Amino acid sequence: MTFNGKVAIVTGGRRGIGRAIAETLAQGGAAVMIGDQNGDEAAATALEIAAATGARVLAHQVDVTNAESVAGLVELTQSELERVDILVNNAGITRDTLIMRMDENDWDAVLNVNLKGAFICSKAVIRIMMKQRYGRIVNISSVSGLAGQAGQTNYSASKAGLIGFTKALAREVGSRGITVNAIAPGFVPTALTIDLPQDLKDSMIKLIPLARWGKPEEIAYAVAFLASDEAAYITGQVLSVDGGMMMM
Ligand code: NAD
Repeated sequence: MTFNGKVAIVTGGRRGIGRAIAETLAQGGAAVMIGDQNGDEAAATALEIAAATGARVLAHQVDVTNAESVAGLVELTQSELERVDILVNNAGITRDTLIMRMDENDWDAVLNVNLKGAFICSKAVIRIMMKQRYGRIVNISSVSGLAGQAGQTNYSASKAGLIGFTKALAREVGSRGITVNAIAPGFVPTALTIDLPQDLKDSMIKLIPLARWGKPEEIAYAVAFLASDEAAYITGQVLSVDGGMMMM
């Protein structure tokens, strides 16, 4: 798989899974724009990836819940890198707690970043992709969106919503050469999951046929495939990358 001449935007790409995605696309020859709410760390990540891969990697501070901020990211990508071929909606947050203790802010914050953020970012690039008659959108959902996870009604709803969004958008834009797919990662050790209670982590491992957590790069390879030219005939799909946790 090569991404020579392609331009990718990866939201939430300063660390964790998003960083691995940015790195994998850059290794394949893509020019990458990392959009993250932590602009300074994103800039440092971009420099490191550029040095390691030789690809053009830029970073810009963005809040995916803010349409104006996202428009700025897309404008900068176009002016600096000239195209937008690939969008990876990876930015995501958790605010885990049981529904009895969950307040509306916990609900709104998670739905805003994880679901509305993907809507705002996709809307911001879709005209460009339509004009090009080429585009790849990959949304990072979760096993929690497929199976539900206690303590994550907000997160599970956002990630399940992302799957409906993926399928609906895939139908809207398929005739323009744009594919829209989702990846549903299982458990990957990142800042997002590091603080989960140890007993929950132990019980999760028992549910994973491959008997281990995933690595960020293992998610990234699947994203890269769906973002590649080779995946041209795949759209509206959800690919689980979870060590076999969910088998449908
Ligand atoms: P992470 O916290 O390391 O990375 C998330 C990134 O998103 C951070 O860099 C953060 O700054 C950025 N971000 C958060 N809110 C933002 C906003 N409003 N605007 C722009 N950027 C914002 O977590 P991660 O584990 O690497 O998660 C990446 C994605 O993978 C998320 O969508 C997450 O839900 C999903 N996921 C993770 C796991 C896992 O086990 N780690 C499992 C399934 C799905």
